[in-house]
This record gives sequence, structure tokens and C-alpha cells, in this order.
Amino acid sequence: MSVVGQEEGIDHGSVRGYRQHRYRKIAATEECGCLKAIRDHQRASKPVPERSQRQREWYGGQFVTAASGSQPGRPILPPGDCPVDDCGQEAAGRSKQRRGWVRAHVHGSTMPPRAFCSGACAAVGIALAELRMTSPAAG
Ligand SMILES: [Zn+2]
Ligand SMILES: [Zn+2]
Repeated sequence: MSVVGQEEGIDHGSVRGYRQHRYRKIAATEECGCLKAIRDHQRASKPVPERSQRQREWYGGQFVTAASGSQPGRPILPPGDCPVDDCGQEAAGRSKQRRGWVRAHVHGSTMPPRAFCSGACAAVGIALAELRMTSPAAG
């Protein structure tokens, strides 16, 4: 089944979302945050320490209010887009776990174990991991 032309499911406000826009032939807009995300991504091609601060800025602004979504009031936060540093980072090989953080891994997913700052972030991470099962899920 083709997703071309479908906006639902795009991870707005992220580089991946921007790529989904292109793949689905849906224009990325400033409102959904994807144009800004790709600009930030290009700007951050070299690692700069203030990158997370920059993410925080757009996250706190456009992205939340533009939750262009099917479910108002429930902002979808892709792992890594959470303003908390290291939230959604790969947790493989790290023995110590931070207090209050959640480590999530979906068996069979191509996504490695990741650590999240909260249960809410972990829930989103797990949902995304389930989308990346090694064998495609039906539906
Ligand atoms: Zn978008
Ligand atoms: Zn988080």
C-alpha cells in the first residue's frame, strides 16, 4: 500500500518527517516544523554544542502548537525531539540507568534499545519501534 499523498503518520518537525514529506509528495510547511527541522539539520552538519538548545527553541514554539494532528492535546514527540538532553538516545551498552528514566526495547524491531526521560517519551519510542519491526506489520 502506498503512502504517497497521505499526511497521516508523518513525523512533523523532524528530518525524517521532512523526508516523509518528499516521499509522500506532500509539501513541508513552516507550521508543521519540517522546514525548520531540515534547516537546523543542515546547519548542524558539524556538531555544535548549542544544537539541543536550538531544538528546544523550535520544539517549545511551533511544533507543539502545530500538532496538526488527528488527536489534539496529545503532542506526538518522536524520540530525540524531546527537549530533554539524551532522551531517546541509544542505551545499548550503557550499564547504568538514570533515575526515573525508562529504557525501552521492542523485540524484533530494527531500533536498538533506547533510554527515555519519562514514560510518555518511552511510550512514543516503543510505538515507533513497533513500526520498525523486521517484518512489516499488516495494516
Ligand atoms: Zn511536516
Ligand atoms: Zn523525553
